Amino acid sequence: MDLVKRTRLLGAGLGLWMASGMMAMAQGSLAPGVTSGAPLVTRAAPHKWAIVMHGGAGVIERASMKPDTEAAYKAGMDASIRAASRVLDGGGHAMDAIEAALKVLEEDPLFNCGHGAVFAADGTNQLDAALMDGATMRAGAVADVTTTRHPISLARAVMERSPHVMLIGHGADDFAKSVGLEQVPNSFFFTGRRWQGLVKQMKKEGKPVPPRPVGAPPEPGTPVVEIETPEAHKYGTVGMVVRDHDGNIAAGTTTGGTQAKLWNRVGDTPIIGAGTYASNESCAVSATGTGEYFIRLTVARTICALVQYKGMPLQAAVDDVVQRQLGAIHGDGGVIAITPDGQMAWGFNTPGMFRARLVEGGAVQMGIYRDEP
Ligand code: ASP
Repeated sequence: MDLVKRTRLLGAGLGLWMASGMMAMAQGSLAPGVTSGAPLVTRAAPHKWAIVMHGGAGVIERASMKPDTEAAYKAGMDASIRAASRVLDGGGHAMDAIEAALKVLEEDPLFNCGHGAVFAADGTNQLDAALMDGATMRAGAVADVTTTRHPISLARAVMERSPHVMLIGHGADDFAKSVGLEQVPNSFFFTGRRWQGLVKQMKKEGKPVPPRPVGAPPEPGTPVVEIETPEAHKYGTVGMVVRDHDGNIAAGTTTGGTQAKLWNRVGDTPIIGAGTYASNESCAVSATGTGEYFIRLTVARTICALVQYKGMPLQAAVDDVVQRQLGAIHGDGGVIAITPDGQMAWGFNTPGMFRARLVEGGAVQMGIYRDEP
């Protein structure tokens, strides 16, 4: 089942990627997903929409990445960024673009969100997500969701259809039901690759391996040919920041959290100001990495505060927080960011971060490893 779904998604993603690449080449621009060595576009011209996204940071190294794995991650990011661009081309708002794009990756088993999320130590998938609208500074967040198929849509529903900013656990899933969001058994989020990751980590730490989840496909007798990802890719959270046609910015992040997390642990993703933040007064940020450090530094809001109160250029603010402040407390991970005046930035202190950006009318620029722009 996993494999079928993955193959289908991969095929669709690669098809889109190739089709859009051919179109871009016909127009004389870069094929999306191909890092050409061309300098990154760091600022979008006024009145053009712009998108920056990440697909998780961690020990992601060229030496341990197979070409088909790399292509699959790029196809996933490409499908997501194109979902956002379709919304923006149609005159949609930043929030609509982000929700559409992150829903695509919540279905993609390669990324650590929705189907494909990492497992908690008790053998369940517990999902966190958040969105923030820079124009209104309204935000919605959910944590420890276990049955809602699209946590990012639930975060948006919390923002728009409840008086609250954050709902957690069963209450959040109950609210999802009450507003008609699709419910699935927790085993819907199961993937063999993530299960193997949990089993391996629990054994390594000398902890009891939880029973295989009820409803999960039976353990294969012979090893399944999976798209292989090094164990260290246990992050893979997904986030996006957007500036739309009206010049409004927004941020969104969705994740399964960290592998083998304990006791309904909540990471930085749904904590407004830590893993997700947006204000038209400063910037929009989405983070990925070991959430505990991002919470302590309120990373997303700190970057925006440097922009807002110190007048720092966006990239300088990102570098200060990610390279200097996060490094100083031994935190690992990265961020993406955008400002209402079109500055775009990313930064990470890990060996790699899946990342991409696109400005209206341009080509997708993607990177994975540290030595890429
Ligand atoms: N930041 C997420 C968390 O700590 C994990 C990740 O980014 O991969 O929950």
